[in-house]
Amino acid sequence: MYNNLYNNLVVIGGNASGLAAASQARRINPDLNITVLESGKYISYSTCGLPYFISGYVKRAEDLLVYPKDFFEQKRNIKILMGHRVVGMDPSKKELLVSVGHAQENKIIEYDKLIISSGGTNIIPDIPGIDSSNVFQFRNVSDAENLKDYIDSNNPKKAVVIGGGAIGMLLAEAFNQIGVKTTVVERKERIYNEFEYEISTILARKAEIDGIDILTKTSITSINANSGQNTATIEDASGKKDLECVLVMLATGISANTGFLTDTSIELGINGAIKVDNKLQSSHMNIYASGDCATIKNIVTGKQDYIPTANNAVKTGRIAGENAAGGNKVFNGSVGTVVDKVLDLEIASTGIGSKEAVSLGYDAIKLIDGFSSHAGSVPGAKKIAIIIIVDTTSRRLLGAQMIGGEGVGKRIDVFATAITNEMTVDDIYMLDLSYAPAISTVWDPVNKICGKAVLALDGKNV
Ligand SMILES: Cc1cc2nc3c(=O)[nH]c(=O)nc-3n(C[C@H](O)[C@H](O)[C@H](O)COP(=O)(O)OP(=O)(O)OC[C@H]3O[C@@H](n4cnc5c(N)ncnc54)[C@H](O)[C@@H]3O)c2cc1C
Repeated sequence: MYNNLYNNLVVIGGNASGLAAASQARRINPDLNITVLESGKYISYSTCGLPYFISGYVKRAEDLLVYPKDFFEQKRNIKILMGHRVVGMDPSKKELLVSVGHAQENKIIEYDKLIISSGGTNIIPDIPGIDSSNVFQFRNVSDAENLKDYIDSNNPKKAVVIGGGAIGMLLAEAFNQIGVKTTVVERKERIYNEFEYEISTILARKAEIDGIDILTKTSITSINANSGQNTATIEDASGKKDLECVLVMLATGISANTGFLTDTSIELGINGAIKVDNKLQSSHMNIYASGDCATIKNIVTGKQDYIPTANNAVKTGRIAGENAAGGNKVFNGSVGTVVDKVLDLEIASTGIGSKEAVSLGYDAIKLIDGFSSHAGSVPGAKKIAIIIIVDTTSRRLLGAQMIGGEGVGKRIDVFATAITNEMTVDDIYMLDLSYAPAISTVWDPVNKICGKAVLALDGKNV
């Protein structure tokens, strides 16, 4: 427990990171007054589970709520103020300007220490018709409820998803599952563009097999619902054409939700994220930031990065909460580990890709191979493809990506651990990984791909 000369801790944002912060502050300091300000009408929800509500796999939006407000108020003595949106602040006076519900007037809330965990915000492309009532965003429970209501009332048969990243593909899958014919429009060369070409190509092929159309190197130039047409105009190298669609889903990426800090001197970095040090402290000593609104140190590159994942949000929240309550904990950073299950394929990545390795000056090699997820003696094994990126000088693993039918999540975490601990492919090749025929092969695919790298580095036949 820490002793403080202050007692008023305010947290902005009532989801993964903000509640992790508030809860940790309470754990280590029972005397603080802790207040969480949340602009929306829900707190503590599983954002990651929202697509399953659209597909109907999760039946009710309430099922995505993790802990109720009462839990925080009664068990953790944390005051939760919903419908409280921070619209401005004056760090020199330690004051927040807060808009409450639909009230016309704002009120001032004071703090001694502040944690900003306001998450990310969707990037809205500047396209004519983007404000049409058939265009949806998808970040929180209210967005999911709006989309579900629209689908239930209008029974759309055709949808366009703008953006072929993780969120776009998860929603395309959800629409496909409920019988909405979906086209994903991606302006870059391929979907899942942050992944290596081979991995995103496997996913794109699976999408086409499942009946989802993928248009790459294609942009949406207008959405035409406001002029009474159920179309969106798209443009590729061959010119413009109209695509029929009743529903348009925006999945064009996120930036940090820090617009309300514009008039303050709080320093912002990559993607508008609040610059924090390894103790999650911002450029102001009484203000901490965590989760999708804050920068994060990339362990592989050593640089400040923007890696908006739930796993990072809860961990940075915990450290910010501890330090704001008087602690002195350090957050070492992230290797950018992500995993998704989309179209019955697990797809995952950790560390850096081949292009980034080259741009950082590494003399790197990339190895790719396909494996069986478990032994052939037990029926039902699935194919998995693995790519690793290795620094030829140090023989260290720099990055790994995988796609396949099962066991991808388990294995990407081994790679993440290895990268964090700067292991060489020689070490990983001989790592004692578990084996049972229904789970793996005697040489786990993680061992095998690293064995292949060892041969390549030693100049032997691969
Ligand atoms: C559809 C979807 C699926 C995802 N799936 C995964 C996944 O499988 N794995 C994974 O790791 N990550 C996933 N993510 C990302 C993950 O959800 C986020 O990284 C995580 O929610 C970030 O937590 P956070 O608390 O920082 O921000 P948020 O969850 O965005 O919470 C921020 C909160 O702050 C509130 N707020 C914002 N501004 C203000 C203000 N001015 N005043 C008061 N309150 C404010 C918001 O209403 C919100 O409740 C997914 C995201 C989406 C959208």
